[in-house]
Amino acid sequence: MPPIGNTGNLVSLFEENIFDETQTDISQLLQLSSQLQTSLDIDSILTAFSEDIQSMVAHDHLGYGHEEQGITFSVGKSARHKLSYQLTVNDEDLGTLLISRRRKFKAEESRQLENLLCALLYPLRNALLYHSALTAAHKDPLTGIDNRAALNEVLDREIELAHRHQRPLGMIVIDIDHFKSINDTYGHSIGDSLLKAMANCAENTIRLSDQLFRYGGEEFVVLLPETDDKGVKRLADRIRRNVAEMDCACEGKHIKMTASFGVATLRKDEDGKALFARTDQALYQAKKDGRNCTRIAK
Ligand code: GH3
Ligand code: MG
Ligand code: MG
Repeated sequence: MPPIGNTGNLVSLFEENIFDETQTDISQLLQLSSQLQTSLDIDSILTAFSEDIQSMVAHDHLGYGHEEQGITFSVGKSARHKLSYQLTVNDEDLGTLLISRRRKFKAEESRQLENLLCALLYPLRNALLYHSALTAAHKDPLTGIDNRAALNEVLDREIELAHRHQRPLGMIVIDIDHFKSINDTYGHSIGDSLLKAMANCAENTIRLSDQLFRYGGEEFVVLLPETDDKGVKRLADRIRRNVAEMDCACEGKHIKMTASFGVATLRKDEDGKALFARTDQALYQAKKDGRNCTRIAK
């Protein structure tokens, strides 16, 4: 992502006659722009923007949304009178920004805000690019579900919460049975379709509060906040039955598969690594016991 200088922005804005020099002091704008470029975090940028423009365009609330990237932001209390802008740079959609307050906005205030928005555009664009790169880094491209990097982040947070509030946290590790021979028999492309079917099946079986990850290869992990031993085992068995009952129609062939499951719940003082190791050990036991079964960690 190339760095975009303040001066560059303003020059191009002058050229496009967007900037109205009668309304805004250029040094103020430069200061605002360089302040906003110190962060790549969308919430921090919008919070700073809202605070920094208060003295020029007072407002009670600032809201922002980017539908495609699923981002919403809001600071302050929404009020009756609103100014709203669809933000774009070179036809690129940067989302919608809205400010509101109890008092009506004057015409010069809306012109002033348009000038100030010029300082927001490029920092916001960089932050959106960064956000989508981060999101992509946490997704498995084949199945579309979260990957191992995402699990590592979420697991630390969930474990912290579970310990702090003394709430149960369950984990399931899933491994498709004899997947190598499925690949060898039907080919890699059908193998890939089965991995997607597996992810779909697990996703459709778990609850909204549970999170599914592709750990790697044909292994998946489910995290279940607020779930005890019984609940984790019950859910694992439900996924296991749904997988076994699935009739996967791929490239004109009907293929069946099964998977093995290890389950565990977090112990006092246990960290993510230890929880995973115990759950994985239970999975190993399930494989040893003949596959297509669930085993609970010791
Ligand atoms: P087990 O029942 O003991 O788990 O046997 P398995 O054959 O499933 O286990 P093994 O670890 O020997 O093989 C895993 C296979 O998964 C080997 C690898 O080629 C395949 N695999 C890993 N990632 C992918 C992928 O993205 N697509 C496809 N098609 N296959 C994959
Ligand atoms: Mg495996
Ligand atoms: Mg396997």
